[in-house]
Amino acid sequence: MRIDRQTVRLLTQAGFFILFLLAPIFDLFRLDLNLKHFFFLGMNWTLGLDDFVAGRISALEAAFRLVVRGGLPILGTIALGIWVSWKYGRLYCGWLCPHFSVVETINHFMRRATGKQSLWEHHPQPERNADGSMTRADPRYWLLLVPIVTGFSFAWALALLTYLLPPSEIYGNLWHGTLTRNQTIFISAATLAFFIEFMFARHLFCRYACAIGLFQSLAWMGNRKALVIGFDRRRAITCADCNAACDNVCPMRLKPRSIKRHMFTCTQCGQCAQSCEQVQTNNPQGPLLKWVDQACALDKSARDFGHHIEIPAHCYTKPSE
Ligand code: SF4
Ligand code: SF4
Repeated sequence: MRIDRQTVRLLTQAGFFILFLLAPIFDLFRLDLNLKHFFFLGMNWTLGLDDFVAGRISALEAAFRLVVRGGLPILGTIALGIWVSWKYGRLYCGWLCPHFSVVETINHFMRRATGKQSLWEHHPQPERNADGSMTRADPRYWLLLVPIVTGFSFAWALALLTYLLPPSEIYGNLWHGTLTRNQTIFISAATLAFFIEFMFARHLFCRYACAIGLFQSLAWMGNRKALVIGFDRRRAITCADCNAACDNVCPMRLKPRSIKRHMFTCTQCGQCAQSCEQVQTNNPQGPLLKWVDQACALDKSARDFGHHIEIPAHCYTKPSE
């Protein structure tokens, strides 16, 4: 049985979302403000400088611990992140990030309720989907949408607190109705803030406010041969028969046929390419959109600077050809 890419992506997103909620509970990763140090993979993650303060180790050994326990893990993570983004773009965003899972889920129910994936869009998108199914707006979906957004907001607020204070204390207090005043204020304020962000500004956050997303995009833009959703412009006339299914499906509300600069916040979710595959399923030449890299990716980048270069012949041929 062949599992399609979007199913794999859904599974990786769901897995990472569960990890995001459970990581503090199992001390996989969290900062404990009471103990004033991190936990990582079930172990205390300290810089080990207490021994230096107590005079048990030399300054040289303290410096060594600082580099090994602090500098190397942080720099290693950053270097790995930059390398992956340089080659593959915002892969983390589209395939793992727990915020983007929320974005996509809310987009889905927002479209069911309003016909649009975002409240800020002027016009509803076509009811016909790329696979031929229909999605008609029904205001009754608001009755589902609001509890879903509230639920996500509360779960995020609670999880955030468990990244800062012992999860056993927070969940125990919640279960027994004995949250402290400060804990109650934190969870209430964070739930409200997340509700506003998820409902009204989730795309804006991904585009402009998330440092992780921004640095991935910058690294990606620096590599003209990086993986990108390419468009076979030579057959652009074929799009005349389509209702812009690729634009309609994009969860970041981008235009996947445009130049790379305009796709700065592309999360490599691949939904646009899948939509084109569905629309062009009977086209012997295959879809016009697909992931490309190396020489096939240059056309997309060159157009950022107004240059038009020839697309190598093999870039958009079907694998069997
Ligand atoms: S342009 Fe395509 S791959 Fe990028 S975010 Fe939009 S749908 Fe996903
Ligand atoms: S690229 Fe594919 S999905 Fe997009 S408008 Fe053209 S035919 Fe439709």
